[in-house]
This record gives sequence, structure tokens and C-alpha cells, in this order.
Amino acid sequence: MTFDYDLFVIGAGPGGLAAAKKAASYGVRVAIAEQEALGGTCVNNGCIPKKLIVYAADFALQNQMAHSYGWSDCQRHFDWTQFIQSVHQHIESIHHSYSQQLQQFLAKNHKKLIMNTLHLLSLPVQKQQV
Ligand SMILES: Cc1cc2nc3c(=O)[nH]c(=O)nc-3n(C[C@H](O)[C@H](O)[C@H](O)COP(=O)(O)OP(=O)(O)OC[C@H]3O[C@@H](n4cnc5c(N)ncnc54)[C@H](O)[C@@H]3O)c2cc1C
Repeated sequence: MTFDYDLFVIGAGPGGLAAAKKAASYGVRVAIAEQEALGGTCVNNGCIPKKLIVYAADFALQNQMAHSYGWSDCQRHFDWTQFIQSVHQHIESIHHSYSQQLQQFLAKNHKKLIMNTLHLLSLPVQKQQV
């Protein structure tokens, strides 16, 4: 693999993806390396899973309050395993969507430059190699 780029971005989180796309749109040769998953902390460990957990907790609170709003038989069971599966499915759908966005960007803009990006993203880059 050759490393002949104007900009080499380490990390495909929100910052890295935005920087790589913006730079590529100016016509420079860009590559981006990611050691874990597309979307970085926000998609995989931060904003997205946190918000889903908060939403799930809100249903329990609504359930507690429902009785005073006239609801009866509001007993519900929370299935952690099912919930975590849904969280992972949601994150997978974001990975898919990001990947499609990159492909569309590739088609519209600087094909070869973005090909480099996708090529590196598809390879497992070891920490010590970067
Ligand atoms: C629990 C939690 C909840 C959050 N909630 C919110 C929220 O609600 N709203 C909000 O705006 N922000 C939130 N954040 C903050 C948000 O996640 C970060 O601001 C954002 O992810 C930063 O983006 P980034 O691209 O700078 O870094 P990151 O998203 O951290 O991306 C860095 C990427 O670089 C990769 N990387 C690192 N080193 C290497 C290497 N040597 N080689 C290859 N790849 C490497 C990592 O694997 C990672 O994918 C939250 C954060 C956490 C932890």
C-alpha cells in the first residue's frame, strides 16, 4: 500500500469524516484510517447509544406516571437483551447509511480520491501501523 496523500485523516468519527469530505471536495488526495468502526465515538459508544438508553428509561418513567393519568394495567416487562439487540441494529443501520453516503459522494465528486478513502476504511488498520 502506498501512502501518497495530501491529507491523511486518522479516525472516521464525525470530525475525521467531515474533514476528509471537505478536503476531498477541494480536490486534494485524501485518505482516512479507522481502527474500529465508521462514525467514531458518537455513533458507536457515545451520543447514539446514550440517547437510545435515555429513551428506554423514559418509558419506565411514563409507566410510573400513567396511573395518575387514568391508565390502568400498565405493568410492562423490560427485556435488556432485546433492547441491546435493537441498539446494535440501529448502529448497524447508521454504519450502512454512512457507507452509502460515502459511495454517493464518490459518484458525485472526486472518484479516485474517495476511492482511496473507502479502500483504507475497508482494511483493518492496526494502531501501530498508523
Ligand atoms: C457517552 C457519550 C455521550 C455523548 N453524547 C453526545 C451527544 O449527545 N451530543 C454530542 O454532540 N456529543 C456527544 N458526545 C461527544 C461525541 O461523541 C464527540 O464529540 C465526537 O464523537 C467527537 O468526534 P471526533 O471525530 O473528534 O472523535 P471520535 O468520534 O472519538 O472519533 C475518533 C475515531 O478515531 C479512531 N482512532 C483513534 N486512534 C486511531 C488510530 N491510531 N488509528 C485509527 N483510528 C483511530 C477511533 O477509533 C474513533 O473512531 C458523547 C460522548 C460520549 C463518550
